[in-house]
Amino acid sequence: MPDVSSYASVLSFEDARHMVERHATLVHPVGTKTVDLLSAAGRVLAEPIIADRDLPPFPRSTRDGYAVRSEDVVYVPVALDLIGEIKAGEKAANLPATLVSGQTVSIMTGAPVPDGADAVVMVEYSSARGRRIELSRSVHSGENVVPRGVEARQGSVLVEPGRRLNEAAIGLAASVGKARVSVYKRPQVAILSTGDEIVDIESTPGSTEIRNSNSYSLAVQIEQAGGDPVRLPIAPDEPKKLRELVEEGLEADLLLMTGGVSMGRYDLVEQVLSDLNAEFFFTGAQIQPGRPVVFGKNVARTREMRRTYFFGLPGNPVSTMVTFELFARPMLQALAGVLPRPIMFVQAKLKSEIKIKPGLKRFLPAILTGEFENTQVELVQWQGSGDIAAVGRANCYIVIPEDRERLSPGEFVSIVLRW
Ligand code: AMP
Ligand code: MG
Repeated sequence: MPDVSSYASVLSFEDARHMVERHATLVHPVGTKTVDLLSAAGRVLAEPIIADRDLPPFPRSTRDGYAVRSEDVVYVPVALDLIGEIKAGEKAANLPATLVSGQTVSIMTGAPVPDGADAVVMVEYSSARGRRIELSRSVHSGENVVPRGVEARQGSVLVEPGRRLNEAAIGLAASVGKARVSVYKRPQVAILSTGDEIVDIESTPGSTEIRNSNSYSLAVQIEQAGGDPVRLPIAPDEPKKLRELVEEGLEADLLLMTGGVSMGRYDLVEQVLSDLNAEFFFTGAQIQPGRPVVFGKNVARTREMRRTYFFGLPGNPVSTMVTFELFARPMLQALAGVLPRPIMFVQAKLKSEIKIKPGLKRFLPAILTGEFENTQVELVQWQGSGDIAAVGRANCYIVIPEDRERLSPGEFVSIVLRW
């Protein structure tokens, strides 16, 4: 029986993250389907959204006012001949022929600027005297006009495949008439909670038992990241039953296990996986919470078997949530068809001092408060990575570099926002 410790490698946070990102480039999304545009909100685009015509399709006035030849209004005030009115949606047939020197046309926001005109004077700088319009403000060529095709050329890609469809992408798709779009199918992500003390949330726990909260918090994180959670029964700390459930979980597109990856006598997850000849890419990361996090891949022993990636997430509820966010999310997103993206930390001003023992990169539950430019972040009081109540009060994590012992109020610190 291979000894797990011979595989063990504890990586820095950055190396562990890069390891996952590298493997994430090797997986393929699980398939596509076509859905109505509004059902595509939040899903991952599987086809490019292409401009079906120039955007804007005509030179568009951005103001209510008078379309002019800018050379006619170099010296102001000046009076020009009013030859008509163009409103938004004006039929092409009703547009005046080329505007010639000395002429102007009344124009509305969103209306097409006629040939010959190259700018629009805002209505605020005009006064009408019958068919003569006096203009009191010069404009440079192009002022208040968006030329045809400058936002996008016909045939150009407006939204790339691999983007999550937010309101802007849905709006763009709508603007080019895509009533139905192709999106990636959601990968199935198996969740396997382990531990003799863990019980279903419907049951009344004995005095030393703990309800299975991790399967639920993970299910939410999986859904938010674009996956389809499949909650397996709770696995006991007993190799045979644990192995059966691990094998079942490996049938999914990705397996997330919680608990059983620390150094305790009944932490059997790695042993069971190594008995299955799994490959381990790391068996720990220099972070807190979440140090014992495991990342690996099932080695197919038969042609039919899948080579499924798995994560062993530490069982403490905060560790489970943090390690999902830091490591499992990029792999899940790759399976969901999302374009790779590096993890980005946001900077926020620290409200109160932090003193900490150096050595591990920390991701500690924190709360961002204040308003406008006075937004500040501070740690929530917590009792360690088992403190699910603390993470419930938090809305982000403060990232503390491994070499810092003290962070001062007013200093900018990195944070990871909760999704
Ligand atoms: P472990 O990683 O198995 O050593 O578990 C660490 C801590 O997390 C223990 O206090 C467990 O009781 C707790 N824990 C493990 N799994 C879960 C779970 N599914 N839901 C809530 N707490 C858990
Ligand atoms: Mg356990």
